[in-house]
Amino acid sequence: MIGIIGAMKIEVEALQSAMEDVRAEQVGNLTFFAGKLEGKDAVVVKCGIGKVNAALCAQTLILCYHPDILINTGVAGTLTDKLSVGDVAVSQGAVQHDLDTTALGDPAGLVPEANRVVLPTDEELAQKALGCVRAEGLNACLGVIASGDVFVSSPEKKAEIVRTFGAVACEMEGAAIAHAAFLSGVRVLNLRAISDSANGDSPVDFPAFCRKAAAHSTRITRALVRTL
Ligand code: SAH
Repeated sequence: MIGIIGAMKIEVEALQSAMEDVRAEQVGNLTFFAGKLEGKDAVVVKCGIGKVNAALCAQTLILCYHPDILINTGVAGTLTDKLSVGDVAVSQGAVQHDLDTTALGDPAGLVPEANRVVLPTDEELAQKALGCVRAEGLNACLGVIASGDVFVSSPEKKAEIVRTFGAVACEMEGAAIAHAAFLSGVRVLNLRAISDSANGDSPVDFPAFCRKAAAHSTRITRALVRTL
């Protein structure tokens, strides 16, 4: 079983429409679309924006559907000049950039219970995803993806996340999903197409390019599922 999570409707609706033998199942506030995607057993769900919504959804999915693999698909702000709008960030680890107990001597981003800063994401899935991105004629970059409960839209915040974590993209859910996956031993990957530059242009760029970016992440997610 492959679990696929997106934060916003625009990030999951095309995947849900592409499913076969699909049934909608309500668990709490979440609606899981379970069936076949690209011929594979899959469940696709919208978690809502932010780390808490994402973690609640990932844990519910894990407990109810016992996935072998979790894929977080969606859009993100770029933190590197290697990624522009429409390009795809493939995770090589996930960090929670707003988790901060440094005043007590901990490293920035140390995740309680997981007891590490960088939550692992699956290397084999990442390599497959990179191959899919290239086969689809898009540009990809492998790297740490940073999550926090903030829409990053300033050069200062962007520089701080890059300096502290060396991340290539920022968003608001991926590391929460990676956290849940890590605690349950589930393979996880985050695939994010770039919607904006996480700077002062983002309030205008995000609404302008979100649909295009979401279409790219959907395309790569479908291509990746075909290889699984
Ligand atoms: N009220 C807005 C909120 C969007 S928040 C709405 O409903 O459309 C931005 C979403 O896109 C989050 O899910 C996040 O994961 C991703 N994202 C894209 N660019 C981002 C950025 N620059 N900083 C943080 N998250 C970003």
